[in-house]
Amino acid sequence: MLDDEIKKNISKCSRCALCVQNCPIYEIKKDENNTSRGLICKLSGLEKGLLSEKEIKKDLKICLECSKCASNCPSKINTTKIFAYKNACFSPSKISQRLFLSIKLLPIKFLYFINFFKPTKKTALKSELLYFKGCVAKAQHKTTFLDEILTNGNFLCCGLPYLASGDIKNYSKAKKNNIEIIKKAKKVVFDCASCKSAILNYDELSENDKQKIVFFSELLKDKKFKLKNNSKYKNKIVTFHKPCHMDKSDFENIEKFLSNIENLTYKRLDNFDSCCGFGGSYFVFHPIISTKIALKKALTIKNSKADLILTSCPSCTIGLRYNQLISANFKKTLELRDFIENELIID
Ligand code: SF4
Ligand code: SF4
Repeated sequence: MLDDEIKKNISKCSRCALCVQNCPIYEIKKDENNTSRGLICKLSGLEKGLLSEKEIKKDLKICLECSKCASNCPSKINTTKIFAYKNACFSPSKISQRLFLSIKLLPIKFLYFINFFKPTKKTALKSELLYFKGCVAKAQHKTTFLDEILTNGNFLCCGLPYLASGDIKNYSKAKKNNIEIIKKAKKVVFDCASCKSAILNYDELSENDKQKIVFFSELLKDKKFKLKNNSKYKNKIVTFHKPCHMDKSDFENIEKFLSNIENLTYKRLDNFDSCCGFGGSYFVFHPIISTKIALKKALTIKNSKADLILTSCPSCTIGLRYNQLISANFKKTLELRDFIENELIID
């Protein structure tokens, strides 16, 4: 995002504080410097030359970039986009950060390598719809029902891990590649809420391009599924953790879908959209804050009657498993896509 756009956006802030009460960091730290309103005030001070970069950098670093403020802002300020971009500009990727990112991506690269020798499942019935398969699913070389009905779009990473580590060069490279594909596509289907949200934040996409971007729940909403005969989830209770970056309408489609499955009871989780605390690399750089947020989520899960927790973001899946580890409360946690693949059939 250009600095002019940032200036225009921050001038729209009415200081209403609706973002403060929804900020997971504020809930833990009770410090307005770390909320969207506080950060916008500071950025405004920076633009006016009243504050230095150093005075805002520390507070900006603590932001989880969860988008809770953006989705509750009546002035429709895309706060997450501003904070993520400014954060990356203030902390350009140094050798240590690049090294860290490379180490973090090593397991994914290794999985790519060992799976290179496995044949990809070919299917006859491919649609014109493109599949944006997230890095983790690609690395695991998972072939799911989405591979059966969609065409692999040859996308690069959504760029979020690069932006979070201050690597604007690789972020821009991934963005350029993905935009070229989206512009030529009819529709692009996502199975990770965070990847979808990161792509929707590309400034260069027109409103028309953004209309092409859909979550896979959109394809399921008119279909009726049932549990496989041998499913271990017959007559069990299932719930869904809404990733912070998931659109409300995508979540509603998922709830409707899960509620319609025979012999399975869907129960909405209390605080279904409260953050899991993991936030990708956030957990590594801010383990104490991350764990405090995770413990709150863990308690909600523990108190729920659910036998199975579903979600649609690999980072949240890891976060939810970690929550259960620290609260010694083990409930099965799965990606919704994998649950459909392994446990359901079309009725
Ligand atoms: S909700 Fe939006 S307008 Fe209100 S204080 Fe927060 S950023 Fe500003
Ligand atoms: S993105 Fe999340 S953590 Fe950051 S200021 Fe907004 S609500 Fe708080």
